[in-house]
Amino acid sequence: MSTKRSGLVAGLFFLTLTYFALGFVSILTANLALLCMTIPFILLAKAKKKVWCQHYCPRASLIDQVGKKHDWRKNPAFITNGKLKSFMLWYFGLNLLFITGSTIQVALHRMEAMAYIRLFIAFPLFPLPQVISIEAPAFLMHLSYRFYSMMLSTTIIAVVLSRIYRPRIWCAVCPVGTLSNKYLNLTHAKE
Ligand code: SF4
Repeated sequence: MSTKRSGLVAGLFFLTLTYFALGFVSILTANLALLCMTIPFILLAKAKKKVWCQHYCPRASLIDQVGKKHDWRKNPAFITNGKLKSFMLWYFGLNLLFITGSTIQVALHRMEAMAYIRLFIAFPLFPLPQVISIEAPAFLMHLSYRFYSMMLSTTIIAVVLSRIYRPRIWCAVCPVGTLSNKYLNLTHAKE
């Protein structure tokens, strides 16, 4: 990787911080999470390699920064035995299912919008103060808070793991990375 490219990746953690900061400006910006969930797969399908993971992932840049230390620990059993990877894949899938289902229910007026942060699907916190208050449909507010909550929950796990073990340990269980690997394995198997 060239020095220029390395510098670009190193600075990308600002995008992650900006994403969470923008939630205080308007929670509607949380829907930018969709880009983080689609761009990796668009690049993967085009290049047949993990371009996002290798060059552009802002979360990887963030955990590279916060996990900087020299006393790395051995990977724990829950990483090496693949249990956390499977759990995170289920967590990601169920979360997306809940987000989609509940947003439809709110849009159909069958459910109250949840206009507050909720960590790890289970722990309700609070609504974010808003610099710009935009009158948006309830389902959009709901969707925005759900995306923000999911991004915050997984970022917390990634940061904690990077501090305890090593910077990129999250990448071993990241659902985007896992699905990308499955896609590449399938593609190579077909070839
Ligand atoms: S595995 Fe996940 S966190 Fe790691 S570089 Fe890829 S998308 Fe980013």
